[in-house]
Amino acid sequence: MSLHFFYRYIVGLFLEYMKLSDEGLHPEKVFKYCPVCGANTLTFKHGRAFMCDTCGFEHFFNAAGAVLAVIVNPKGELLVSRRAKAPFKNTYDLPGGFIDPKESAEESLLREIKEELNVEVDTYELCFTVPNQYPYSGVVIFTVDLVFKVTVKTPEHMKACDDVAEFLWVPPQQLHSTFFGIQSCNVAIQKLGLIP
Ligand SMILES: [Zn+2]
Repeated sequence: MSLHFFYRYIVGLFLEYMKLSDEGLHPEKVFKYCPVCGANTLTFKHGRAFMCDTCGFEHFFNAAGAVLAVIVNPKGELLVSRRAKAPFKNTYDLPGGFIDPKESAEESLLREIKEELNVEVDTYELCFTVPNQYPYSGVVIFTVDLVFKVTVKTPEHMKACDDVAEFLWVPPQQLHSTFFGIQSCNVAIQKLGLIP
């Protein structure tokens, strides 16, 4: 084994460890007190809503919307970013993020690409959506991830910004079913046939 491949092997083991170390609990296990009256009388129903038995407050855990961008260059390489922050810090990711309140998914896509890669979107096309679970601050956030095929203007000006540590172009031969830390990214590249 050459030194280069040994290094890649060690980095791979480290990334696998990072993936396993990011876990979140279902909200049922974390939220104890009613955010309206402060009583510890929250009852969870069907795993997706809680109700306060004291004041009657009710809240549903609906899926949060998020966008993922699949950007492939003329050589067939996929644009991959490396996460600068937890959860899944240092694992590979696709550009994108959560949709802000009162924002459309398309607006979110354009904003996230500008924030993370410092370039404007040229064209985009919604391919499909993937349900996902995203651990944050010890709690699982249930999401629905909208997967877009994207082209950008001036790809030569791309720069890793915001919560992206770096980006790289990865040939299909190096992609596999557990390549990304975030599971919906793995599902996305499989459904798009990007894994050989
Ligand atoms: Zn209450």
